[in-house]
Amino acid sequence: MEKSIRLFAEAQQYIPGGVNSPVRAFKSVGGNPVYIAKGEGARVVDVDGNTYIDYIGSWGPLILGHAHPKVLAAIQEAAALGTSFGAPTERETDMAKLVCEIVPSVEVVRMVNSGTEATMSALRLARGYTKRNKIMKFEGCYHGHADSLLIKAGSGVATLGLPDSPGVPEATAIHTITVPYNDLESVKMAFEAYGEDLAAVIVEPVAGNMGVVPPQPGFLEGLREITQRYGTLLIFDEVMTGFRVARGGAQELYGITPDLTTMGKVIGGGLPVGAYGGRRDIMQHVAPAGPIYQAGTLSGNPLAMAAGLTTLQILGEDGVYERLDALSSRLAEGLADNARKLGIPHTVNRVGSMVCLFFTETPVVNYETAKTSDLERFSRYFRYLLEEGVMIPPSQFEGMFVSLAHTEADIERTIEASYQAMKKL
Ligand code: PMP
Repeated sequence: MEKSIRLFAEAQQYIPGGVNSPVRAFKSVGGNPVYIAKGEGARVVDVDGNTYIDYIGSWGPLILGHAHPKVLAAIQEAAALGTSFGAPTERETDMAKLVCEIVPSVEVVRMVNSGTEATMSALRLARGYTKRNKIMKFEGCYHGHADSLLIKAGSGVATLGLPDSPGVPEATAIHTITVPYNDLESVKMAFEAYGEDLAAVIVEPVAGNMGVVPPQPGFLEGLREITQRYGTLLIFDEVMTGFRVARGGAQELYGITPDLTTMGKVIGGGLPVGAYGGRRDIMQHVAPAGPIYQAGTLSGNPLAMAAGLTTLQILGEDGVYERLDALSSRLAEGLADNARKLGIPHTVNRVGSMVCLFFTETPVVNYETAKTSDLERFSRYFRYLLEEGVMIPPSQFEGMFVSLAHTEADIERTIEASYQAMKKL
């Protein structure tokens, strides 16, 4: 770790906290962040020459693994012709067409540069379209760092939001209603109080920012039903689940059709891409087709489109999602077996290739129950796993991402490493 330690010390002089995104600093697990030199398939190699089986996968985008040869070739081919034009290119239409084909609810789609931009833009659209002010989100769901979405719950079941960060005006926060995930009763109460002014409900259809929390049967159906009744738009934030839990995302997996969908991560194949799309009659309100403004100098960037398009095409090959499911289900089962053998209280949640081990016996169905996990134990587990050559996200409130580059042997090796790490707990 010598070189990683030196690099982090230097970075802290020039970058806030030494990192360009907070969770990378290992603050919640302790220790020095690992500086990556390169990635190859399911593995990353750090600057000190240590190799790890990687389950971060750039926080979701790398469903094909690191440095996939076809993705690299597509980027190189695009780069040789110029990196950005700020004028339309054919590839943007190819990408939009493919997304409309793959994602059930999407008829028209706009490319942006990150998940944050996608959710922020979808909310503006929802507010402009419905001419309403308020939005509803769920406690423990993360939708990027736009002001309206950086809101924590107040006290009580269905509450007006409070700023989650200095710099978010209270005047903005009061327009965000926060309710517990998987709790339709609270949703109903909130609709009774604020329904007439609710522009949108935004939800992670599988929550991936409080560990992994699947929607309980009826939850997404209930949201669909109540939003329709009140003329509120339903937005699925599929930045994490899109093209991952199924090629068409959680909306395909659960058969629920939202009005708008936000996308990110996998759609860029490791380059900066986000997107929002949905019903044609709503999307036609976006400029220049309509009056709701949203723009981007680098949106639809040729390199990013090439990487994303190639990734989505490969995900259309036969057996891809079956393979992800088989690997991930073996991993989830192996982690649970280890904990059981060693008498460690645990809950393992999984949807497709999103897997999360919590150190609690309480079933994890929302943020309250996710927080019953023993976080101190997680931190030690994380560090022991790293010593065993396995890198998982440095936070209990994130899932592990399995990729198509992981082999059966990698999964078995990971289960063995996890056993060794748990033994030390
Ligand atoms: N929505 C969800 C569900 C996410 O998981 C994330 C990022 N983890 C975002 C939005 C924000 O995306 P980005 O980091 O690309 O801005």
